[in-house]
Amino acid sequence: MRFATPLALVFLAASALSLSGCATIGGANYYSVDQEWELGQQLEVELNSQLRLANDAALTGYVRNMGQRMVRQTTFGDRPWRFYVVADDAINAFNAPGGLVYVNTGLIASVGSAAELAGAIAHEIAHGIERHGTQRVSAANEANLLASVVLGSDPNAAAQIATQIAAQGAFARFSRSDEREADEIGVQLMAATGYDPEGLALLLERLAEQEQGGGIEFFRTHPLSSERMETVRQLAARVDRRGLRMDESGFASARRAAQRY
Ligand SMILES: [Zn+2]
Repeated sequence: MRFATPLALVFLAASALSLSGCATIGGANYYSVDQEWELGQQLEVELNSQLRLANDAALTGYVRNMGQRMVRQTTFGDRPWRFYVVADDAINAFNAPGGLVYVNTGLIASVGSAAELAGAIAHEIAHGIERHGTQRVSAANEANLLASVVLGSDPNAAAQIATQIAAQGAFARFSRSDEREADEIGVQLMAATGYDPEGLALLLERLAEQEQGGGIEFFRTHPLSSERMETVRQLAARVDRRGLRMDESGFASARRAAQRY
């Protein structure tokens, strides 16, 4: 698959750097992939008890299926990934370490097409496979808290982290370069799965328009720089879009289900 090679290279390069102890471009990551997935198992339990998950099997199933198809295009496809829908009006989605992706009903209800939703989910998966979350906290104060979850030294640490995530709508505050990387990989992921990457550009434009009215949570957690939309447009334009889709069966009823929350 044309997508597997560049991604594998990115991953191998990042692993080689962290093994040798050198800082990666975004900073060193103190956590191994195994540790991150172990952490994810604990965070999943805590987050799912603290967040109000949407109790709609068809809606959750649709989002999960979309996410799993994209994950299978990556070198992290053999790891368990979990996708959840949160009953929350705020337009947001986030990735937490260890293959966790949460999408708010507010985001699903507001997108115009399956490809726009795929854009948001691809972007979150990209943060996950680039391990931006653990990379960010490796450089921040939360590193100790995270380490105590991995080491099992503080039984309340996972709950504390989950509380922070629930309050902030994000695991970590991403940098502009994190966002650029997540958009870039997201575009490739979408195309590899059959979604038109134009969807990500449309999503950002739609949200930026609504942002004029204030308070789009997605931009608080995933900063929108002035050149971000233009860059995504250029990335999407480079993709051979023949055969890629904007819509699909199942999307309209999933959006209606999300709008009921
Ligand atoms: Zn982001």
